[in-house]
This record gives sequence, C-alpha cells and structure tokens, in this order.
Amino acid sequence: MAIRVDGKAAVDAAIIAVGSELLTPHKIDTNSLYVTQVLDDLGIAVAFKAIAGDSRADLRRLIGHALTHHRVLVLTGGLGPTDDDITRDVVAGFLGLPMTEDAGIIRALKERFAARGWTMPEVNRRQALVPRGATVLANPHGSAPGLWIAHDGAQIALLPGPPREMRPMMDGQVRALLAPVAGRVRLHRRLIRVSGKGESAVEEVVQPIYAAWRHQPQPIETTILAGLGQVELHFVTQSEDAAVAAAALDAAVGQIERALGADLVSVDGAELERVVGVLLKARGWRVAVAESCTGGLVTSRLTDIPGSSDYVERSVVAYSNQAKIDLLGVDPSVIEAQGAVSEAVASAMAVGIRDRACVDVALGITGIAGPGGGSDLKPVGTVCIAVAGHEVRVRTLRFPGGREMVKALAANSAIDMLRRYLKEA
Ligand code: AMP
Ligand code: MG
Repeated sequence: MAIRVDGKAAVDAAIIAVGSELLTPHKIDTNSLYVTQVLDDLGIAVAFKAIAGDSRADLRRLIGHALTHHRVLVLTGGLGPTDDDITRDVVAGFLGLPMTEDAGIIRALKERFAARGWTMPEVNRRQALVPRGATVLANPHGSAPGLWIAHDGAQIALLPGPPREMRPMMDGQVRALLAPVAGRVRLHRRLIRVSGKGESAVEEVVQPIYAAWRHQPQPIETTILAGLGQVELHFVTQSEDAAVAAAALDAAVGQIERALGADLVSVDGAELERVVGVLLKARGWRVAVAESCTGGLVTSRLTDIPGSSDYVERSVVAYSNQAKIDLLGVDPSVIEAQGAVSEAVASAMAVGIRDRACVDVALGITGIAGPGGGSDLKPVGTVCIAVAGHEVRVRTLRFPGGREMVKALAANSAIDMLRRYLKEA
C-alpha cells in the first residue's frame, strides 16, 4: 500500500522484471532493488513488483494490474532481438500504440556491429521499433535501447535486463524524466539492527512506540524483519522537508534506542561486524579469534569490513583436539574431563589465542554443528562461546536448524558477544 501524506497517497510505482530465467532457482532479480533505490531517492514509493516469464499473456496481465493501480511503471528485461524478448511488443500492444522503425536506432545498431567487424543480423531490427510518442533512451553499454512512454497519466520506462546496461540508463536518463512526476516529497528511511532478541520479543518492546508514531503529524511507517540471529526495524517517512523528516526519525529512533538498550546494534544500518570494528578502533584494541565449529566464519565476517587489518590480529581454526592443544595451549586433561564442546575449552581457546597474539580481546568458539556428534547432554546446536579480555565471559547456547544455520547463528552470537563486551569495556 502507498504511504499516505496528509491523507492522500504520494506517487507510487510498480516494477515488473521480465525474463523466464528469473523464475528459476538459478537467477535472482536484482534490477528491481536498484530501481527501487533510485525511486526511493526521488520520493516515489514502490508499491508493487512482480516477475513475468517470457510469456505474453502473463506480462499483459501484470501490466494491466500495474497500470490500474500505479502511475509509474518500470519494466526491465525482454528488450533483446530474439523471439523471447517480448516487452516492447506487449507494452505497445497493451497501450494500443503502433510501432515504427527508428532510423536513428538502426544506424546506431549498424555502427555498433561494424565496430566489431560484423554486419547487423536482421533480427536486431526489432530493437529499432518504437511505439508512437515514445522517447528512445540511448544505451551506450549494449544493443537494446530503452524506451520512455508517457501515456494517459502513466509514466512507463522499458529498460534492458543486463544490470550493467540498466543501471546507467536508470541513473542517467530515467531519473531526470521521473523527477517532475515525483514532486518534492522524498522518502526518508532508517534501518535499525537488533541482536540477541527474537522478532516477537523485539515487536513487544517497540510496538507501543511505533503505534504512536503512525498517527503523529509526521507519520512513520515501520517494518520488522527477522534475519539469522538478528532483527531489522525499517522506519520510513515522507516529507518535502529533510529536516522535518530527520527530526521525526531521530525522535522515534531515540525512543527505540532507550527501549532496546544493549540489544540495539546500530541505528544507521551498520552490520554487527562493522559496529565491532568501530568499537575496537575507538579503544585502540586488537582482536584475535580461535574458531572450531564456525570454521573461520567469524573471522570472515570481521574481515569483510575494509580497514579491518587495523584491529584483526590473527585467527586460528582449531578443529581437532590436537590443534586446540598445539596452537592454543588448551590443556588436554580439560578436553578429556569436560569434552571439546565445553565452557572450559571455549575459555581456554580464547585465553590461549589472546595471550599468544598479545591482543586486548579474543574469542573462542566450540560447538556441535551436526548432523552427527550430538548427545543427550550436548545435543546438535550446542555451542560454547568465550570472550577473553581483562576478564573471561563464557556462555553455552543452543541453536536450531541444520549445520549451516548452526554455524551462521554461532558466528553471529560470537560477534555479538564481542560487541557487548566492547560496549561495556
Ligand atoms: P534481457 O534483457 O531479457 O535479454 O536480459 C539479459 C540478461 O540480463 C539476462 O541474461 C539476465 O542475466 C540479466 N537480467 C535480466 N533481468 C534481470 C533482473 N531483473 N535482475 C538481474 N539480472 C537480470
Ligand atoms: Mg530475457
């Protein structure tokens, strides 16, 4: 549904991605995310999006729906020269616009082929067909030109499928064409990340706050999303005045911050590992990691952040007992007595790498990722995580799911434990 300002709907948009490959398990529609970003910037809310295979009937139906409910429609894909490239044809047919061959496009196509020493295949003529009244959008990165059609109060953009052709066209040409349609109202967003609480627990805390904000003079819409070990809160408001929007969002975010306390990771969308990096840098500290069941995932995430070499000192994947003994100095009798998955071993791993690396803080992670290796006492999903700084903190957690999920959740919890430790340090 469109976000409403002063009781009337702001201009909203529909996106249709065209291509049968986007309906397979192998190919994801990323174009619509990019298009949404640009529309967001313009203050045009995306209210509907869909994927059509290369089927005329399906595409026609979706276009019918989109244009019945929305003023702006962006289509990507299906502008190529082959039989399965149907977008141009179906849109023109739907609007009842005859098409004529554009001499300028033919010339550009011929030059494009000639530059490679080829002659233009006849099928490419199809790409030169332009519905009456449409504006041709030049494509310096490929053969398919885009089209812009203003018809009956609707604004329709037809863009090529390949992202490297679509993006510059969206940025360079469609943005300018849409700006007058959008008016001056812009969308303003905040992304808040929360860790250590489930979706419903977060909802319980924040729902009373955002229920009130929905009815303020500057209303804020909220979406709550659960991810792996994390919850995201998306706030969005519309205003012509960036300062008014910022003031409303700041006030709402401030309330959420106070309500969530240490569970709040960031209010600017920063991921856990980025926040940890900022906290380490602020303290001038370095970290080392000893991983068993996470197999390097924690280190991988910490080093996803550019500049992490300033604070990541080293990491060891100590999978076998012998590796824990040899590389981290874990006492074999502790492994014998308590088991490799135990708080004592997680602590010894963290302390071992902290002292060997001479760092300020270290993590030790050991657990049972499954599917084998579980017992009644320590079922699959049991993970012990230790943080060793000037003191040692250790926790045993039980994660649900298969091997991949247990690893991902364990890595997330480890980074979150480090974050909490740093916040208090
Ligand atoms: P088309 O314009 O339909 O010939 O698309 C050509 C190529 O662009 C396809 O092979 C896809 O790999 C890519 N493509 C098309 N649509 C999308 C989309 N929505 N998101 C990402 N890639 C796309
Ligand atoms: Mg296609």
